[in-house]
Amino acid sequence: MQSYDIIVVGAGILGLSTAYRAQKAGAKVLVLDAGATAYEASSRATGYLSLRGETPAESPLAQEAEKLWDGLDDELGYPTEWTQKGRIWAALDEHEFADLQKLYRTFQKTDVPFEFLDGATMRKMIPCLSERCLGGIWTNRSGHANPQRTSQAFGWAFTDLGGEIREYTPVLEVLVEAGKVKGVRTPQGEIHCGNVALCAAAHNPLLLKPFGIHFPLAPVRLEALVTTPMPPLFEQAFIGNGLSIRQTKRGNIHMNGGPYEWINLEIGREAAKPTTQTVRNIMRRAIETMPVLKGAQFLRCWAGIVDIAPDQMTTIHRFDSPEGLVTAACSGHGFGMSPAVGVAASELLMNGATRMPIEQLSLDRFRDTPSDWRERRRWEAGQYNT
Ligand SMILES: Cc1cc2nc3c(=O)[nH]c(=O)nc-3n(C[C@H](O)[C@H](O)[C@H](O)COP(=O)(O)OP(=O)(O)OC[C@H]3O[C@@H](n4cnc5c(N)ncnc54)[C@H](O)[C@@H]3O)c2cc1C
Repeated sequence: MQSYDIIVVGAGILGLSTAYRAQKAGAKVLVLDAGATAYEASSRATGYLSLRGETPAESPLAQEAEKLWDGLDDELGYPTEWTQKGRIWAALDEHEFADLQKLYRTFQKTDVPFEFLDGATMRKMIPCLSERCLGGIWTNRSGHANPQRTSQAFGWAFTDLGGEIREYTPVLEVLVEAGKVKGVRTPQGEIHCGNVALCAAAHNPLLLKPFGIHFPLAPVRLEALVTTPMPPLFEQAFIGNGLSIRQTKRGNIHMNGGPYEWINLEIGREAAKPTTQTVRNIMRRAIETMPVLKGAQFLRCWAGIVDIAPDQMTTIHRFDSPEGLVTAACSGHGFGMSPAVGVAASELLMNGATRMPIEQLSLDRFRDTPSDWRERRRWEAGQYNT
């Protein structure tokens, strides 16, 4: 039977980034996915890098990701369409304005240069922005990229190095012998390895449960849409009116927004991803935000599932027991984080330690999280959040 140094469970962007770094460092790596490569959240993302002003404890890791993004096209040898033109949070009403002022105080706990601007200054930066914009937060750092191209770039760079991806091969169980990982069980049989990286998003908790490990993640469904190409309007990563809106290199306006629907998942079963009336609501709010979009032609829409932890932060954890097991998940901002998470997870697997700043991001922080945390938050299947 063929054996590997590392099996990565999940060919999303976190799994592919981890696999690429480990293969590059000399390990023999196999990536297994229940479906097609990056068919889930990773190719459905809007494509922003968040510098995590919202959760300062993970900002140092996001800033490491930012450094890696700057050299990623050269590193991988394929285009990601990384555009580093800053990020804006705009308030369209008094309520949003007050929320952003509060958020700005949290943002200031990081060492990222955030500024609070008035509406006129924001409209100078984005001339198509509605007259209703009262102001908001700005940083010239951060940026966005193309999620499909970036996932593809990580996948291709990994296989260029000799790495192997097996699609439609769900992992049903992580196998352990004498307290150490020995492989995984799939419907096609066992595959042996010395280490496993669980990068299966909201499926991580299901695979960890047999070890008595509680990884509190709630799956939530997000909807997105894209228009046909428009003339150049803005280059920043824009957030406002409950939406994330960016313009792609080809000119398409790409956006996503709430309300978001909490759901449940099962191993080996693909979650339904219907689009709903929310899409029409997203388009209406986009036009309110940038009236020029009234002339935009709606091209296509989709939904994707992301995994949210109680504190909405990234988790990267290496287990002492079973030995040889690492898990990573990013609470719905894993696209931007992926270059740094890949470095951290691969180093934890291969060296037992990492140079990435993840001290505050281990699973240990959930030691006291009650098992009914989802119910308490009303983050249960069938509930919506904005
Ligand atoms: C509409 C939308 C917009 C978003 N916008 C942004 C954004 O602007 N910026 C940002 O940073 N993030 C964004 N995100 C979140 C981002 O997409 C995710 O955080 C990121 O893609 C997570 O990557 P992942 O590899 O952990 O998960 P995924 O891409 O979901 O990959 C997990 C993989 O694991 C596989 N898997 C699951 N169970 C098993 C199993 N048992 N065996 C084998 N394989 C298994 C799945 O098939 C899947 O391919 C957005 C997400 C959505 C849906």
